[in-house]
Amino acid sequence: MFKKQKLTKTRFKIGLECPRKLRYDADPNYVNQNNHDAQLQALAEEGMKVGEYAKLLFPNGIEIEGLDREKSLEETNLLLKNDDVVLFEAAIEYKDTFIRVDILEKKGASLNFYEVKSKSYSPGKDSLTTKNGMPNNKWQSYLYDAAFQKYVVEKAFPAFDVTAHLTLNNKASIAAQNGINGSFRMIGQGSAKHAVFDLDKLPDDDFLNQLVHVNVDKECNSILASTIHPSFKTNSFEEVVDYLSNIVSDKLIPEPVITASCGKCQFQSLGLSGLDGRLECLNKSYPEQDLKSEDKLIFDLWNYRGKQSFIDSGILRLRDIPKSTFDAPEYKQGSGLSDNQRQLIQWEKVSSNDPMAFVDSVGLSEEISKWTFPLHFIDFETARGALPYFKGQKPNDLVAFQFSHHVIHSNGDIEHKGQFLDVGKDKNPNLNFIRELKSQLSKDAGTVFSYSDYEMKFLSELSTYITSSDAKDADELIVFIDSLVNKKSSRAIVDLLEVYKSYIYLPKTNGSNSIKDVLPAVLNESKLIRSLYCDPIYGKDGEIKSLNFSRPVAWLEMNGDEATNPYALLPILDEVPDDAMLVKNGGAAQAAYSLLQTNEIDPSLKGYLESSLLQYCELDTLAMVMIYQYFQEVCSQ
Ligand code: SF4
Repeated sequence: MFKKQKLTKTRFKIGLECPRKLRYDADPNYVNQNNHDAQLQALAEEGMKVGEYAKLLFPNGIEIEGLDREKSLEETNLLLKNDDVVLFEAAIEYKDTFIRVDILEKKGASLNFYEVKSKSYSPGKDSLTTKNGMPNNKWQSYLYDAAFQKYVVEKAFPAFDVTAHLTLNNKASIAAQNGINGSFRMIGQGSAKHAVFDLDKLPDDDFLNQLVHVNVDKECNSILASTIHPSFKTNSFEEVVDYLSNIVSDKLIPEPVITASCGKCQFQSLGLSGLDGRLECLNKSYPEQDLKSEDKLIFDLWNYRGKQSFIDSGILRLRDIPKSTFDAPEYKQGSGLSDNQRQLIQWEKVSSNDPMAFVDSVGLSEEISKWTFPLHFIDFETARGALPYFKGQKPNDLVAFQFSHHVIHSNGDIEHKGQFLDVGKDKNPNLNFIRELKSQLSKDAGTVFSYSDYEMKFLSELSTYITSSDAKDADELIVFIDSLVNKKSSRAIVDLLEVYKSYIYLPKTNGSNSIKDVLPAVLNESKLIRSLYCDPIYGKDGEIKSLNFSRPVAWLEMNGDEATNPYALLPILDEVPDDAMLVKNGGAAQAAYSLLQTNEIDPSLKGYLESSLLQYCELDTLAMVMIYQYFQEVCSQ
């Protein structure tokens, strides 16, 4: 059911992406994937902490409490009768627009507003605009947000001189103390979720040097005067605002405009229960195609940049793409798939409804023959706090707080060999993380595996951190990192994802190579894996030794004909506190780490979160072990 609404900051942003999205955003019956994305939610929480931090820069600011529109407008207008006042979350309305301003400062006849963002900005180095004065891509959505607010504030208070600012993380600032991030805690649920400052003493100047106010009035004026805006090629800013306002207030329904961006539209159901907005858009635009939710679409085609050309030719189903598009030479066993060849295989599998795996066992065997036992499978969990966790950090610097490490020996024995978890608040764990990794991997010369290049990229970033530290063993640690990340090194990390992409395609993944999709596909495909893991052999006292699963686990759980994704089984613990977060992905792991950094955390919740993190990271490396076992199985057939 569509609800009449006002055009807010969030809706303005969504409407600029695609006006049709506003229809789905207003109706909870439509699935919004952003609400199920733990990574996005973790980022949003970090943003809320920065918002709360910014308020500390205005110690006399008054909070306009509550979500009720009328009451907040009344309170704002009353307080603005003062000559000088600072308001947090000031409520301002003009026609069908309604905004809550992060920070509004009234000084006589001037109104300064500050839109707070957790993005990092380098004063004197970063440029917000291109040569023609319009926002560059990186800053576009932030500047449009500020321009929209300037528009509403100026219209609502025409007698005032209004100046726009972005308040951003200052890349040049270095935290002078531990615990800045941990001084903020999230409370509430859903739309009422927000950060609160939670320190028992007033912050000092050292604490408060993380943000910078950037005057963006000139940039806002350029946007307000322009007639070209995202999704709107020939409209004034006012016309854009009126158009989007008319949609949210239900005066008009925008027609969908199908483009390649629809591939990433958040209003698609992807198997979740609820309405699929994207499918509705496609069928409205191309009714003759009568698309169904089970149809594989051009958007599913892996790593193909020319999807707009399919849309321009009216092609939406993957199987309708002409074969000639792929221009791929015939595949020779052992050569490794090129992108075109992999796309062609995906297309062939969909077109012929073929559920069988593509496997190049020649190439895979050759690859495996290069690996040295014992095999080491590693996975890291990291957190990037918008506000620094520790002294010496810049905003958005990485913290390495966890890894898991599985080993396969030459006789086939598997064990969860080691791990690291440091959620302490007194010291950045980065150095101890790398020391422990070095200690665990330096006992032999076995091949080291990751899944994706994330671990390599992170280790390179860690190398920079170590260089600037005063660690006595810095040189040794850097040499160790180089041995893993330098492609010429005999022990350079092998990326299992690249091996998988080169020699295997599993139709059940629908083109995704994420370990969260490949693992269930492997479980469904592999007789060996199913027979190995259908019994509870995995645990502290099990046939396969675990460090964190005390109860023996059978990882194969069938749901009809399909194997359940093992990540869905987490956590496997005797007690799970009511309403506690479930750590089943990297975003949730980061959120759990942030929660563990807060000042006061209940010991039982702390214990639960630590156990959940340990189980989640252990499953990540076990998943790699299973994928390796699948490689072996297909090579021996
Ligand atoms: S599917 Fe495309 S047209 Fe429809 S709402 Fe999403 S982005 Fe807009």
